[in-house]
Amino acid sequence: MIRRVYMDYTAGMPVDQRVIEAMLPYFSQNYGNPSSIHSWGNEARKALEEARARVAALVGAKKSEEVLFTSGGTESNNLAIKGVAYRNKDKGNHIVTTTIEHMSVMNACKHLTKQGFNVTYVPVDKHGVVEVPSLEKAITDKTILVSVMYANGEIGTIQPIKEIGEIVHKRKAFLHVDAVAAVGHMPITVEEENIDLLSISSNDMYGPKGVGALYVKTGTRIEPIIHGGGQERGLRSGTENLPAVVGMGKAAEIAKAEMKVEGQRLVRLRDKFIKGVLQTIPSSYLNGHPTQRLPNNINVRFSYIEGESLILSLDMLGIACSSGSACTSKTLEPSHVLLAIGLKHEEAHGSLLFTLGKQNNEEDVDYVLSALPDVVKRLRAISPLTPKELTQ
Ligand code: PMP
Repeated sequence: MIRRVYMDYTAGMPVDQRVIEAMLPYFSQNYGNPSSIHSWGNEARKALEEARARVAALVGAKKSEEVLFTSGGTESNNLAIKGVAYRNKDKGNHIVTTTIEHMSVMNACKHLTKQGFNVTYVPVDKHGVVEVPSLEKAITDKTILVSVMYANGEIGTIQPIKEIGEIVHKRKAFLHVDAVAAVGHMPITVEEENIDLLSISSNDMYGPKGVGALYVKTGTRIEPIIHGGGQERGLRSGTENLPAVVGMGKAAEIAKAEMKVEGQRLVRLRDKFIKGVLQTIPSSYLNGHPTQRLPNNINVRFSYIEGESLILSLDMLGIACSSGSACTSKTLEPSHVLLAIGLKHEEAHGSLLFTLGKQNNEEDVDYVLSALPDVVKRLRAISPLTPKELTQ
């Protein structure tokens, strides 16, 4: 039997067993609606507020009311960007973001341009770090919102959010941070890091899929994008998905307690993996920042071959990885993130993303490191682009 090694955690993570156990009673035992005033409702409301407090504690929010539950990272990003834009259009119509954001930020911004808003996309350097002086220059008197991700799920690069927040606040704009790839994997404190809005997704921290949260700092002017019965302080109507919300709360509590030790373990595995690849495979390179990167992120590229054929060959050896963001894998276009850090189309196509998680260990890393050089060599041997010296 071949070994099976899953290294595609960013695309989907297992739900922690303790999270499943916490969720189970809320399907068929505690099924009340948090809006009801009877005791079933009170029990549900208590669970909802406990989950909210746990998420608030994970990101260092001052008050738990500042956390709103949504259906995931995509909705949180849409609510933050459209919500701030619509509510503040009397102050200005300009938004600043970056060239490496997730498609839910990119496309929310694109949508707003059809409604009279202007968007500036600030470039990043070759490691994927936002060019802070360019960002500062891009802000005008009409800027109402700046949206910069905490860390990029594809290349792992972490942004200097606190410094960006200081600049944004000096100019009286709001700072939204898509922290989906980072929350639960590294410490984040919204108060200290000058963050007004923060997007979180449950499945990216071993919680269930289809639930997320948006932190909205008190005093941040925002309008709902989903209208209805007025749940979540009127900012996100709809009956709360209580089992999922309870699961997200439990996942937040576990992450807060365990992420430091787990992060250190993953950094060791990550760095061993990267070093091993770069040392054993000629013409291989690391994408993203060498040190300022997510503990679980490895993005490497190999000249002369296609990531897709590498993925399929590795799959036959029991190894799961990806060519980039699962959200954009339906298109044949190379990743906009890899192009934004200056890679050519063929370099972007030759990139592979391995994302590590709780179930990976050192033997997994050794297994991939032993399999990868042969796979790369074999594919290079049949690629017309490969120079002769690499095929021998
Ligand atoms: N932002 C980032 C940085 C992401 O990596 C993702 C995907 N996990 C999202 C937003 C979208 O989150 P969701 O899939 O929960 O809608």
